[in-house]
Amino acid sequence: MSIPSLQALGQEAQSLATGKIIPILPAATETAAETEVARTLQICNACRYCEGFCAVFPAMTRRLEFGKADVHYLANLCHNCGACLHACQYAPPHEFGINIPQAMATVRGQTYADYAWPPALGRLYQKNGLTLSLALAAGLFLFLALAVALRGGEARLWSGELGNNFYHLFPHNLLVGIFAPVFLFVVFALFMGVRRFWKDVKPATSGVDVSAPAAAEATQDVLRLKYLDGGHGEGCHNEDDEYTLKRRRFHHLTFYGFLLCFAATALGTVYHYAFGWAAPYELPSLPKVLGALGGLGLMAGTAGLWHLNRSRHPLHGDARQKPMDLGFIALLFLVAASGMALWLGRATPALALLLCLHLGAVIALFATLPYGKFAHGVFRTAALLRHNTEKRQPSPIGLGAD
Ligand code: SF4
Ligand code: SF4
Repeated sequence: MSIPSLQALGQEAQSLATGKIIPILPAATETAAETEVARTLQICNACRYCEGFCAVFPAMTRRLEFGKADVHYLANLCHNCGACLHACQYAPPHEFGINIPQAMATVRGQTYADYAWPPALGRLYQKNGLTLSLALAAGLFLFLALAVALRGGEARLWSGELGNNFYHLFPHNLLVGIFAPVFLFVVFALFMGVRRFWKDVKPATSGVDVSAPAAAEATQDVLRLKYLDGGHGEGCHNEDDEYTLKRRRFHHLTFYGFLLCFAATALGTVYHYAFGWAAPYELPSLPKVLGALGGLGLMAGTAGLWHLNRSRHPLHGDARQKPMDLGFIALLFLVAASGMALWLGRATPALALLLCLHLGAVIALFATLPYGKFAHGVFRTAALLRHNTEKRQPSPIGLGAD
């Protein structure tokens, strides 16, 4: 059966069900990747075997055609669990060649670049890879080490006289002067990017504002990484047909590890400015407990994600984005490992070098955040908010509503 005849079949079924003729001419899409998603979803819409796997399929059944905004929305709603590839009777080598995870991943990568702010920096997504991330961290480490050496002589780089106080090397106000502008730029750039995405997908997802129940359910979906459970709780796929919960668990370790580290830094800022309690903090202070737990979680999570990424089935994703994925994972691991090493080596002569390594990794991570894999969390959260809003509205085609 040819693809056009499947589409015609879908049209006939919809027409019969609703009692009217519904045009299903392909909606305007622009790139080959977007057209491929629209093509595959037309076939899925006639098949619907994978309806219970994730949020994408119920959202798909609310549509008869897939325009650019629909494709961008659905691509970011997909969690790349791989379930619909392994279940699909039309997957390669079938002539239909249905590979939803790969088609969605390709469009997702494109949306990060298309919605990037400022737009001219969108092409950095293609260049943001493992080599660049590590080279940036190494360059910053050398730069900071050089700055320390020039300020205090080589002896300062390897000195047991610094005690446990790294503000002797980099004064607090200097660190704030470096990190505050970078952090604010990252937040602003990500906000502007996701704002443009939101403006495009909102009209295509009912146009209704997000309600409190929709926001609460979307938050739960994000915090639980619900759609990495394969729809049945046994997990998703990685290298083969076997279900595994490893991807969900390592994502959780990474996600919550990152949040705990961020909370430790935020709390340290409150301690400094509100109470005048200067770092470094020691156990059992709350910033140190949060930082230690977060660091361990980040290290375990990113090590696991690295291994899973390297062994991932090649049909699951867009191979061109692998360097970007690995670059982000490597920087997160480096930040966590150097932070833990700094803590353990705080009373040794290696303090200055460990501090330069940690600061270099943190600055490199933040500098690449708006143009790297971090974007997937932001865009997917926005898509889940739209999904939980849209599904509370009546189906626009009167069929297949949740
Ligand atoms: S991925 Fe394959 S099996 Fe699943 S709904 Fe689409 S066409 Fe059907
Ligand atoms: S890869 Fe997983 S999350 Fe993505 S559409 Fe398929 S089943 Fe849904």
